[in-house]
Amino acid sequence: MASMIAPSREVDVVVAGYGAAGGTAALTAHDAGAEVLILEKLDQPGGNSLVSSAMMIFPTDPSQAPRLAEYLHRVTCETTDRSLIDTFVEGLMKNPEWFESLGGELETYDYTKVDPTISYYIPNKTFYAIPPMDLTLELRHLKQTARCPQPTGGARVWHLLDGHIRKRGIPVWTGTPVLDVVRDRDGEVTGVMALRNKERVFIRARRGVVLTCGGFEYNEALKWQYLGPKPIGALGSPGNTGDGIGIAIRAGADLWHMYAEASTLGFRPPGDEWQAGFALTVRRPGFMYVDKLGQRFVNEARLEAHNAGVATAVFNLQTYDFSRIPAYLIMDGENAHGKPLGMNIFSYNVVVKGYQWSADNSKEIAAGWIKVARSVAELARLIGTPEDAIGETLMRYNSHCLAGVDPDFGRPIETLKPIEPPYYVMVLHPLMYNTQGGPRRDCEARVIGTDGRPIPRLFAAGEFGSIWGFRYQTSTNFSETIVYGRLAGQNAAAAKVLVAAV
Ligand SMILES: Cc1cc2nc3c(=O)[nH]c(=O)nc-3n(C[C@H](O)[C@H](O)[C@H](O)COP(=O)(O)OP(=O)(O)OC[C@H]3O[C@@H](n4cnc5c(N)ncnc54)[C@H](O)[C@@H]3O)c2cc1C
Repeated sequence: MASMIAPSREVDVVVAGYGAAGGTAALTAHDAGAEVLILEKLDQPGGNSLVSSAMMIFPTDPSQAPRLAEYLHRVTCETTDRSLIDTFVEGLMKNPEWFESLGGELETYDYTKVDPTISYYIPNKTFYAIPPMDLTLELRHLKQTARCPQPTGGARVWHLLDGHIRKRGIPVWTGTPVLDVVRDRDGEVTGVMALRNKERVFIRARRGVVLTCGGFEYNEALKWQYLGPKPIGALGSPGNTGDGIGIAIRAGADLWHMYAEASTLGFRPPGDEWQAGFALTVRRPGFMYVDKLGQRFVNEARLEAHNAGVATAVFNLQTYDFSRIPAYLIMDGENAHGKPLGMNIFSYNVVVKGYQWSADNSKEIAAGWIKVARSVAELARLIGTPEDAIGETLMRYNSHCLAGVDPDFGRPIETLKPIEPPYYVMVLHPLMYNTQGGPRRDCEARVIGTDGRPIPRLFAAGEFGSIWGFRYQTSTNFSETIVYGRLAGQNAAAAKVLVAAV
């Protein structure tokens, strides 16, 4: 048995994956008295957490917390037990205090005030049709301070966590992917197999293993098998290739929420050097989205920024393909030569690769990412539709703008403006913030086996088996990494020490 192999290292708690969930779990387990080791597969840790915005939704009035739980449970459409949502909300309300204990401070963030030209749509209560109607939510993020100086929200949180991990001397083995969880004859988790310096090593965990391996945003086979929109790209860390899914299956875990994801409509540049894409915001009214047939398909001004997958995963039985993937952004010169279309506030390309979208889009026009068509005929050639189809769509959209009403999709009048030539075009794909699927967990962050019982000493947190199934309420993933990361760390540290097999 693998547990009979001499361990190359023995600790109380092994944490697999060093993003916000892993960092929080490690810190909590350490502060509860456990000896902890973090294993991270990439040379540079941080995962999606580092490149995130790390916005977190809160009830404006704390007394509304039970109503938030009721609402979130409705959003998950019975795919998550209410007790897990209650646990989340209870932990969420403790998050501000927890950040303060680390030397950080949350502040309210109103994106419409920070930059009123941003057009992407993030209603604080994403699904306003779901009761309770009198629930008011606000976004908060970690304030930029001398202690947390990074320009983007996720980088602030991640560096704050990393600073505490270093201060406490918690070892982090980077470039060390976990390959498998090891269980003994009785089913107890005894540690993990990992690849260290090209060698398979066994690391013994006396108390528990916490899996925080992130999602499968860059695993083409898993995405094709499980997710609705096909193909679908991502905005975050290319290290998230879903290794943990196989690890969880081999450890006997039940999987859940494998179909769920949060995505926006964005742009992925051509070429192998671009694994991740960019989120976009179109700031002026002269624009529309069309599908491959040259037809509008959505109220462009109210496409919620995390549910693009829902708008694009429509399979066209006539053409027998996803006729909205790719879709096309058609816009006027005011947009194309105006403020940056690419968002410089998050993503792997911006935070890790250091790409800054140019202030007037000129760099991206020169690169051919934004193409120009001087006529309807040229536009039709660019997007590969018959000229009369796209011509008619343009004429219809422009006439709605002049009439001041969009009977097709109900786009608000202030967001409607005719699009005059030259036309500027970008190819759009659904691009994920993250996937949600992975091992099922319970309120104590224990991984649940296919027999419906917790796998002894195995815990999980973060987007690796997130509690968010079905649709996604904006800005709940990051706070979940902290809430369930804390629970996983606490409970792993509190598990009884495993007596070594002789
Ligand atoms: C651009 C962007 C913006 C976002 N904005 C928001 C937001 O504003 N609000 C919000 O709520 N959510 C947001 N999200 C989502 C949120 O940031 C993530 O869901 C969250 O950070 C996930 O944290 P995690 O620790 O679970 O995973 P990650 O941070 O992705 O960490 C997982 C880690 O595990 C490592 N790993 C993988 N496999 C192995 C293995 N076999 N062995 C060892 N290590 C492994 C990975 O390399 C990675 O470092 C955003 C995401 C992106 C990409």
